Amino acid sequence: MTDRRYLVAGNWKMHNGVADTSALLERLLAEKLPGTVDAVVCPPFVSLPAAAMLLAGSEIGLGAQNVHWEAKGAFTGEIAPGMLTEIGVRWVIVGHSERRSYFGETDETAGKRAAAAQAAGLEVIFCLGETLEQRDAGETLAVLERQSAVLGDLDPAHLVVAYEPVWAIGTGRTASPEQAQEAHAFLRQRLEAAFGGAAAGIRILYGGSVKPQNAAVLFGQPDVDGGLIGGASLDARSFSDIIRAAASCAAGDEQWQYS
Ligand code: PEP
Repeated sequence: MTDRRYLVAGNWKMHNGVADTSALLERLLAEKLPGTVDAVVCPPFVSLPAAAMLLAGSEIGLGAQNVHWEAKGAFTGEIAPGMLTEIGVRWVIVGHSERRSYFGETDETAGKRAAAAQAAGLEVIFCLGETLEQRDAGETLAVLERQSAVLGDLDPAHLVVAYEPVWAIGTGRTASPEQAQEAHAFLRQRLEAAFGGAAAGIRILYGGSVKPQNAAVLFGQPDVDGGLIGGASLDARSFSDIIRAAASCAAGDEQWQYS
């Protein structure tokens, strides 16, 4: 249990065009979500305007999956921060491992995207995490140290960090609660070194094959403040059950079990 408010964010990746987004959000809005946890969904760019209309007035926040650092210009295929805020987007995922491994995202470009997003008024969910080879080579903390270096240039008041071990994303293989806590505690120290007391307010999410069945034990770790959810966020029941698991941790309910 932590003093920070839990956050559960859904990364829909390249799933759900406009029609499917509307259908999924209608199902999600019909779920009775606990008011004690922040919930955010991040549909693909083309579905954001429809999502913004459906979520207007609801407690569910809206995020994008990437953003460019320039305000406009000759950057084919990119989306500027102001284009997101104009349609009611408040959150953005930056530096996801799929962007890093398939699209050449680097620590430097992720840092630039995050800084520009914050300057435009967006809340940043900054992803980092080691590959299996790096973990097996004992390099996990060194990788996190390198990837987290750019965080010091950001505004801690509008920053969420997502620890996502690459080997756990979409694989069905989850980090153990101890592995997650070790990485989160290390990241917390890094944030404290960068921001002093303000680090205490920064939420660190765990991401990597989170499901309703394993969410409570992961979120119950002292430095785990919620989750970034991929596959399980594509189902309204699973995603809302993960939010309920977070609410049980927020309430300090150690008896809570998914059923
Ligand atoms: C993700 O894409 O950020 C993620 C954590 O995916 P999954 O939950 O499917 O592992």
